[in-house]
Amino acid sequence: MTLDEGDTPLVQAPHVSELTGADVWLKLEGANPTGSFKDRGMTVAVSAAVSEAAEAVVCASTGNTAASAAAYAARAGLRGAVIVPEGKIATGKLAQALMHGARVVALRGSFDEALALVRELARRHRIALVNSVNDFRIEGQKTGAFEVCDQLGDPPDVLCVPVGNAGNVTAWWRGFQEYDTAPRLHGYQAAGAAPLVRGAPVEAPETVASAIRIGNPARWEDAMNAFTASRGEVRTVSDAEILDAYTLLGAREGVFCEPASAAAVAGLLKYGAEGRVVCVLTGHGLKDPQTAMNRASSVLPCEPDLDSVEAAVLG
Ligand SMILES: *Cc1c(COP(=O)(O)O)cnc(C)c1O
Repeated sequence: MTLDEGDTPLVQAPHVSELTGADVWLKLEGANPTGSFKDRGMTVAVSAAVSEAAEAVVCASTGNTAASAAAYAARAGLRGAVIVPEGKIATGKLAQALMHGARVVALRGSFDEALALVRELARRHRIALVNSVNDFRIEGQKTGAFEVCDQLGDPPDVLCVPVGNAGNVTAWWRGFQEYDTAPRLHGYQAAGAAPLVRGAPVEAPETVASAIRIGNPARWEDAMNAFTASRGEVRTVSDAEILDAYTLLGAREGVFCEPASAAAVAGLLKYGAEGRVVCVLTGHGLKDPQTAMNRASSVLPCEPDLDSVEAAVLG
């Protein structure tokens, strides 16, 4: 089950490089078929579900896993069901899951509660659980590390990545290890949803970066091992810092990512790094138009005559 995921662009970031003094590159995971890196793992997880003759695929999601699972399930002819925290999911992601014909269940609870429930559901039925607790997801997502090494010709010195459920950082580390290399992994959590930094689960995680609004990461130990083994770090960025990086990427680098993705660049700008640095921009900006419109300047109304247009364009 493939939609030709992966092989995403790796582009230089001249402005962020100038600000940080590092050689900064952006891995544009929003260029995957459903607009996030989740597709790299979903192609493997749903293919495995088909080979195991599962009746349906299910996931808990802050949005992108739902969009990706729904797309691959549709392609496989499998029933897809996604459990999302009610009112907490970005508009684009919800539209995707619905358009792909998944049953979208809005849980009156958090992502962490949703994940605990789908784990139990998958134990009771012939349903494939396609969250990143599913090891096929990690196997697919590790390919990002292979690509970055191949695209640069050498491994980077540092990889900056946003951290939610911590499956992705686990996957990148596995990929680098299989390529016999060990860049420092710099993980960033939103200040209001930073269990790994605090060393304890967060009861009511809150951040504008909905994709990383997770209080009890499923891949907690794997992620901490990756940070330690790579001599990396996991730190927090505030929502204000995330939104500043989000705006800067759009306005100065020409790259529109979603807020969670901007956490990677916010962390780099805040804490710095040396050498060749790759920031993983995990999802496309169009996923979350509401945050963009809240943040952006307004459109200019204009009368249909040349003077007015001239004033509007050049003024
Ligand atoms: C899923 C996701 C993350 C977090 O990845 P984890 O594997 O949960 O740590 C970050 N950004 C975006 C856009 C995502 O969809």
